[in-house]
Amino acid sequence: MNAQAESWHARAAALHFDGRALVAGRRVAAVAGETFDCVSPIDGRTLAPVARGRAADIDAAVASARAAFDDRRWAGQPPAARKKVLQRFAEKILGAREELALLETLDMGKPIQYSMAVDVPATARCIAWYGEAIDKVYDEIAPTGASALALIQREPMGVIGAVVPWNYPMIMAAWKLGPALATGNSVVLKPSEKSPLTALRLAELALEAGLPEGVFNVVPGFGAEAGEALALHADVDAIGFTGSTRVGRKMLEYAGRSNLKRVYNELGGKSAFVVFEDFADVARAAKTAAGSLFFNAGESCNAPSRVFVHASIADEFIATLKSEAPKYAPGDPLGGTAEIGALVDATQMHTVLGYIEAGRSEGARVLSGGRQVMTETGGYYVEPTVFDGVSNSMRIAREEIFGPVLSVIRFSTEAEAIAQANDSAYGLQASVWSDNINRAHRVARSLRAGTVHVNQYDEDDITVPFGGFKQSGNGRDKSLHALDKYTELKTTWIRIDAA
Ligand code: NAD
Repeated sequence: MNAQAESWHARAAALHFDGRALVAGRRVAAVAGETFDCVSPIDGRTLAPVARGRAADIDAAVASARAAFDDRRWAGQPPAARKKVLQRFAEKILGAREELALLETLDMGKPIQYSMAVDVPATARCIAWYGEAIDKVYDEIAPTGASALALIQREPMGVIGAVVPWNYPMIMAAWKLGPALATGNSVVLKPSEKSPLTALRLAELALEAGLPEGVFNVVPGFGAEAGEALALHADVDAIGFTGSTRVGRKMLEYAGRSNLKRVYNELGGKSAFVVFEDFADVARAAKTAAGSLFFNAGESCNAPSRVFVHASIADEFIATLKSEAPKYAPGDPLGGTAEIGALVDATQMHTVLGYIEAGRSEGARVLSGGRQVMTETGGYYVEPTVFDGVSNSMRIAREEIFGPVLSVIRFSTEAEAIAQANDSAYGLQASVWSDNINRAHRVARSLRAGTVHVNQYDEDDITVPFGGFKQSGNGRDKSLHALDKYTELKTTWIRIDAA
């Protein structure tokens, strides 16, 4: 073990974390006094007891958020003042970079170097970007006649319930917090029970940055308890949800059963990566497919898990994939060198292994990987796995696996590739690889996905919207479009009498 890894391990061993909820600016135990164990997938050890929030805790957090909204302690501040607080919040996040990165890695198993280089900076940038944007967004005056003036203004919605997953815990929270807070709302955040730690620290850092008490509350707990109570709450105006399509459906039901709150669902994906025979650099395409799929151990909603390759270049493509895959062998998440770490928990690992088994039994061939490894650690690690001989009707091509499993599907014609790529319940992302400019544009237009990449897969920026077509959700995170989710449009008509 190198010195840096030793130091991360020493800091991990010394961790003492306050897992209480944060409501109305204070750390509080759950109303019923219950906790659950927050377990690290790295080695199965318990990191901290965490407050197990239920309906009573959600009631308290929503009441605190509502009081903060109603007395305008945040919404009533000029945008330039909110900007300053959010900028300070972003600085605090960067200032706590090592601490937050360590918590994120221990909590959900990703390599520490990526928590440091991706998760923390992206979280800070998101908060800062919305802060910076908010005093530059103008409202509108409608082009009506001389006898009246119609003002069209955005108003904050009120209390936002944010329910987020565990794969990028801080970034997913920031995608809700940035636009919701910048526009003056109050927020109750329910982090995943699998990764609650950084959300609690973020809320403390926001307070230190000057965000008024009650504006940002965090209630940890289970989905069917705290999550459901938040989504059913009659005093929550909107739910910003990121998670599975299965739970996204429930979010819509909860809204229907309660107060018709707005529901914004950012859900699962089964993204297609389509490589045509006219793309010269087959090796680059294959390396990108491997890198994009295996990053974060495949636990990315936009992972290109269906790789369509023209039959004439499939052997060459697969040869590169086979030599690339072992580079993503899992290793010690605190070691600083492994490309992938642990899967988030035993349940997720068994889901992934179950899909690998399903692929085999439906007739696909494992070219690389396929097994659980590092069992001696007590953690949950699976080899990067490549399947060949996959058809688009197999379960591994239709269902979201959310693990390091890549499926190669061969095709013969452009029409067939487009039809199969679009033959999915999901529509989050897609990519087309072609050196023919007409084909690249034609196929990009035909792919039914919220984002289409051409001859690359990794471009990403806070300035562009993120979200999907079909059962990948509705609404968009990131970019100025996300402001629409957390604001209501109000028209004010003013009569102007003639002289
Ligand atoms: P999940 O749906 O199981 O859980 C997400 C959140 O919802 C968690 O906080 C959970 O506690 C809560 N929840 C679960 N059941 C609930 C219920 N009945 N009522 C209310 N809340 C409930 O998803 P996950 O396993 O945490 O995350 C993986 C999923 O997230 C994948 O499907 C992935 O594609 C998706 N995801 C989508 C995006 C995107 O932007 N589209 C980004 C990241 C992850």
